[in-house]
Amino acid sequence: MALTYEELLARVAAPAGTGRLVHEPATGDALAEAPVHDVAALEEAIRAARAAQRDWDALGHEGRIPLLNRVADHLEENSEALAQLLAREQGKPLNGQGARFEVGGTIAWLRATAATPLEPEVVVDDASQRTELVYRPVGLVAAIGPWNWPLMIGMWQIAPSLRMGNVVVVKPSEYVPLSVLALVSLINDVLPADVLHVLSGDREVGARLTEHPGVDKVMFTGSTATGRKIVESSAKNLARLTLELGGNDAGIVLPDADPDAIVEGLFWGAFINTGMTCAALKRLYVHDSLYDRVVDGLAAYAAKVPMGKSLDEDSLLGPVQNKAQFEIVERLVEDARDRGARIVTGGEPAKEIGELFYPITLVADITDGAALVDEEQFGPALPIIRYSDVDDAVASANRLDVGLGASVWTSDVAAARPVAERLEAGTVWVNQHGMVHPFAPFGGVKGSGYGLEFGVEGLKSVAAPKAITLPAGVAG
Ligand code: NAD
Repeated sequence: MALTYEELLARVAAPAGTGRLVHEPATGDALAEAPVHDVAALEEAIRAARAAQRDWDALGHEGRIPLLNRVADHLEENSEALAQLLAREQGKPLNGQGARFEVGGTIAWLRATAATPLEPEVVVDDASQRTELVYRPVGLVAAIGPWNWPLMIGMWQIAPSLRMGNVVVVKPSEYVPLSVLALVSLINDVLPADVLHVLSGDREVGARLTEHPGVDKVMFTGSTATGRKIVESSAKNLARLTLELGGNDAGIVLPDADPDAIVEGLFWGAFINTGMTCAALKRLYVHDSLYDRVVDGLAAYAAKVPMGKSLDEDSLLGPVQNKAQFEIVERLVEDARDRGARIVTGGEPAKEIGELFYPITLVADITDGAALVDEEQFGPALPIIRYSDVDDAVASANRLDVGLGASVWTSDVAAARPVAERLEAGTVWVNQHGMVHPFAPFGGVKGSGYGLEFGVEGLKSVAAPKAITLPAGVAG
């Protein structure tokens, strides 16, 4: 029997007066209190999880894969309750690329991770020896996530870790603890006890978790500043790290592109999740010959996309998730306006919808060096920069100390290839932006972090490779 939203929330909310009050970004209403786990709870979670790891590993892939698929079935059964909670707490609309999309993607990711084949690799087979590389669990994985896609990113960390035979302690963002607590609660309806724990605490709990000697691997998705602190912590426990950090993805529209054909892709590449997406298009470089048509086309498209309250079935765009992020977006747009950039659409808070609503804001006639171009806005404002030489656009795209994603837009895919090769980013898309796939490795370069998620590479990243060397001529 599927749980209702109220039943799911009741499972994870703290008794009144004992937790931290969470508000709904779209309305400002109090949602529920989230438990606040302390350092004693952290110690207990790590102890219990470590004690469960040997048996979980002993199940082997053949034992764990069916269990993970049963988890996916169970999540599917309860997906509407989970989406309702996510929409209320995170603020994203139910529809479009919102809460239902995120829950569906979370489940699909789990199934794809369960289905990813991982065979031993024969790396030497000659007259001297036969060496095979096998992949063993690292032990305990700490999974620390952000507030923008809490379930999807949580699953990106949890699914490969569990699949490989690790136990996991999850630390969700303090902005969205209830959704992640609910996800873990549902997963734990199916899994053996203690394999998966969740700690709903603040950044102090996160910091203690990352430096704990019982942690073998940290999967972190969040800001570059926090990523640097985690690197320092890892000096204490030598935990392996996967760091998915901030980005400031550039898109380059080549002179041969057809504005009518690309406007929709550009719009959603930039404004998926109302712009609060790590690998969203955050700076758009458009060739002079097409500049006005692209700007006008984006503005016309933006006018058709409804922004509204999360539970309104018509909304496709929602509020900024929290006040701190709202103020960043507001500051960057104000700064652009003060510099003389042209606000094509938006540019003032949409208080008539709610306190945290900021409209889609397109900023034209802006140049490199403006804060809105050089800093990650992580919200619904897009700077559109004019260029006349493709080499200059590539240099602009590469000039910042981040490199998560980038994109090239063209009518001639072959022409995009050499441009894609020169862009300094972990992923370069052609005629799309931000479309992740469970079998395509994803990760950043430069200040966007290191390590890969997804697919076989993602499984290996939560495993310790072991070389087994046999005498020559012995089949493995
Ligand atoms: P954040 O770094 O402030 O917080 C992320 C998590 O880290 C939270 O759970 C927080 O409690 C925890 N934390 C904070 N300080 C810590 C510490 N010292 N040690 C351990 N944990 C600590 O990031 P955010 O504001 O939640 O997320 C927004 C940022 O995340 C953006 O920069 C965005 O680009 C980035 N992001 C990246 C990806 C990616 O895949 N590369 C995905 C989503 C978001």
